[in-house]
Amino acid sequence: MDRNQALLERAQKVIPGGVNSPVRAFRSVGGAPRFIERAKGPYMWDVEEKRFTDYVCSWGPMILGHNDPDVVEAVHAAVDRGLSFGAATRAEVEIAEEITRLIPSMEEVRLVSSGTEAGMSAIRLARGFTGRNRIIKFEGCYHGHSDALLVKAGSGLLTFGNPSSAGVPASVTEHTLVLEYNNPEQLEDAFRKYGDEIACVIVEAFAGNMNLVRGSQEFIDTMRRLCTEHGALLIVDEVMTGFRVALKGAQSLFNVTPDITMLGKVIGGGMPVAAFGGRADIMQKIAPCGPVYQAGTLSGNPVAVACGMATLKKIQAPGFYDRLGAQTSRLVKGLAAAAKDAGVPFSADSVGGMFGIYFLPERPHGFADVMKADQHAFNTFFHGMLDRGCYFAPSTFEAGFVSIAHTDEVIDSTIAAAREVFASMAK
Ligand code: PMP
Repeated sequence: MDRNQALLERAQKVIPGGVNSPVRAFRSVGGAPRFIERAKGPYMWDVEEKRFTDYVCSWGPMILGHNDPDVVEAVHAAVDRGLSFGAATRAEVEIAEEITRLIPSMEEVRLVSSGTEAGMSAIRLARGFTGRNRIIKFEGCYHGHSDALLVKAGSGLLTFGNPSSAGVPASVTEHTLVLEYNNPEQLEDAFRKYGDEIACVIVEAFAGNMNLVRGSQEFIDTMRRLCTEHGALLIVDEVMTGFRVALKGAQSLFNVTPDITMLGKVIGGGMPVAAFGGRADIMQKIAPCGPVYQAGTLSGNPVAVACGMATLKKIQAPGFYDRLGAQTSRLVKGLAAAAKDAGVPFSADSVGGMFGIYFLPERPHGFADVMKADQHAFNTFFHGMLDRGCYFAPSTFEAGFVSIAHTDEVIDSTIAAAREVFASMAK
């Protein structure tokens, strides 16, 4: 039996679904997930020693490619000094200085260990700061799995959300208003009705959890203006986009100043680091300075911080984002051209090192568009590519990622594989 299948069967006896995060189970595409043994540069190898060009990049963090030698060296050095102290360290000060320098809207920052924690803490802070309960999120945006944010996408109507998971009390999500992404009029309506009750609006400025969907400038500008007018805080979730779409994040591309920013993924370079930060007067409300409680045994872990800091240093090399953006754009243009030649309805988009591929004739603008994608065609593409050694995200609802180690040659071989797959699909 294939070792992946054998491991899946063992795993399913002791781990729900055999995985520690649901999308890894390949449930929507079918087949056994690949159990990864090791990775280097743009490649990963599974337990069968099959090599894959990796377009998931650990869902974003591996922007330098896997096991960058400088990052590995920094991690080894940190390990030699100690794994965890539960006390303040110099490295935390240095990474906080680096983050606040790179992202000026983050005047102060606190480190946590996952994007979920960053989102949960940012919401608590916004509520604590404003003394209000209601929050606005958008259909198709994901901000981690904390209760208040785990709300079913609405049906395009102005509705208070129902929990989208068992175990979340409706009394927790009754304060969460779910609106349509890229619909500024609906946002205006919501503020007209509830303006003085809204603690915050939370958004992915480029949504990456319903595949890649670009927020419009008007949408982002409208939420900034409404938040300011009504005394609500704007939280931009840059867990995925931070240091990924541009060195200074999505906020630099939209020229918007959030009150609070969330970071994750690239900031840890593949280890558990995330952060939330923003205006100093807001951040001063957090314990031990203020009444909003937030804490973590492993927050600012020295090994994870060393990994993140080494990554942040390397992405500041001159021309890094030009190259990353060009490589990502080469991939999506190549895939789109291959699909067109085969007559397969397909579109694609990229921002910096993040991309979306859609089995739709046009790029989507929101959740309803994404839902129209041809799931069957995607599954055929996914497995065709996997067979040919190219590992794409196993779901139509996920964005893809390219690293600086994905050279033209690597990308061109992926496009060549895609040509074969699209041709087979056209038959
Ligand atoms: N926000 C965004 C935009 C994300 O993409 C994710 C994870 N995909 C999260 C928050 C949650 O981060 P984590 O998985 O580290 O909890």
